[in-house]
Amino acid sequence: MSDFANEVTLDRSNAYLRLEEKEIETAYDFCEDYKFFLDHSKTEREAVSTSIEIAVKNGFEPFDPLKKYAPGAKVYLNNRGKSVIFSVIGKNGAKNGVRIAAAHIDSPRIDLKPMPLYEKNELALLKTHYYGGIKKYQWTALPLSMHGVVIKRNGEKVEISIGENSDDPQFCITDLLPHLSQEQSVKTLGKAIEGEDLNILVGSRPYREDDEEKVEKAYKLNILKILNDRYGIEEEDLISAEIEFVPTLKASDIGFDRSMIGSYGHDDRVCAYPALMAMMNLEEIPDQTAVTVLTDKEETGSDGNTGLNSAYLAYFIEDLAQAEGLAVRHVLSKSKCLSADVTAALDPTYERAYEPMNSCYINRGVGVCKYTGSRGKGATSDASAEFVGEVRKIFNDNGVIWQMGELGRVDLGGGGTVAKYIANLNVDVIDVGVPVLSMHAPFEIVGKLDVYMAYKGFKAFFEV
Ligand code: MN
Ligand code: MN
Repeated sequence: MSDFANEVTLDRSNAYLRLEEKEIETAYDFCEDYKFFLDHSKTEREAVSTSIEIAVKNGFEPFDPLKKYAPGAKVYLNNRGKSVIFSVIGKNGAKNGVRIAAAHIDSPRIDLKPMPLYEKNELALLKTHYYGGIKKYQWTALPLSMHGVVIKRNGEKVEISIGENSDDPQFCITDLLPHLSQEQSVKTLGKAIEGEDLNILVGSRPYREDDEEKVEKAYKLNILKILNDRYGIEEEDLISAEIEFVPTLKASDIGFDRSMIGSYGHDDRVCAYPALMAMMNLEEIPDQTAVTVLTDKEETGSDGNTGLNSAYLAYFIEDLAQAEGLAVRHVLSKSKCLSADVTAALDPTYERAYEPMNSCYINRGVGVCKYTGSRGKGATSDASAEFVGEVRKIFNDNGVIWQMGELGRVDLGGGGTVAKYIANLNVDVIDVGVPVLSMHAPFEIVGKLDVYMAYKGFKAFFEV
């Protein structure tokens, strides 16, 4: 082959074949911290707390919109405990635009209905309403833990986490035994387990009075008594609550070679954590103000005041702009964003769902998607050639191993994320993110080098 041929051939080889052993070790160390983050951030609220804890240790302080910050100032804005913005004020402030990394910290899960508790056939159960796009059958016969907050009658907030410690009880959605599943097994996959079947088993011991008198609804009552003894909550308090059931599974290495990580909630903490750490570890004060936003509600379409379809990010940038005497529209129009969300990794078992030439692969580096959407690029923000070129150059110049991919074969489905909401603010946006196997399952898998390359990519983007 000529030199020319060597130069123009896309280098799409595995990142393990392209990195020095030392950098692989650095990537693995980064992933150990990521695993810790995962196990302590199983809900959007916990991810906000964990992130702020890390930021405060790194000198970040709560943002005051009325204050004028000097270059190098580190601030965070906590939006209702469910989304959060971190920012380092740049040498040139916001006048040439800000640089944004956006990721989400909510993950598919099982939420409680407002009035969940009931008993039937001597068992106590909870009614649920699933959150995000799940394959319901995957969430049965799996240990679950309970996380969330309850606002009591007197206004007091109680935080709950049951199931994560080794001596905690856990919870479970039951499934029908195969011996009696003749009717269930001929149903389609999407119908075999229905939404109203996702009931969580929480008890089987009846409440008993000392005088042995029979008590009404003793199984339900026993659960209420335990909740009252432990948390001081009563049944009506569950109405003003956000309780989420998530897999109890801990993050762990996958494979004999430990080259991958399995965990609940990689989507999208696997982008959120690198985006957060890129901001924490900036080598020096960046030229342009850097913004990392970790948002809520992506899995349900980004609506609501903690999702990125709300104005909270634009308002924050407006505050930065005003402090410098700038109009926010002029700041936004010069701003650039990496919209960070997971993408599908090609799965050899289901290869037919992918177009191999334009798919992402585990450990080929951080994935870049020019556009998402479905059918004829429906509902997408399609990054311009100019911006793709710019990001590609940043990554290439800074040793970021990256790959280009689409989410599966054309017309097979599709998906999208927060990119379009930021693009609609007149910001240049491109999707980047870590490829995932078994996306949205209770246990998802990512490649360690891809996680690290996401971090390196965000950092290079901020440090331009
Ligand atoms: Mn996502
Ligand atoms: Mn998702």
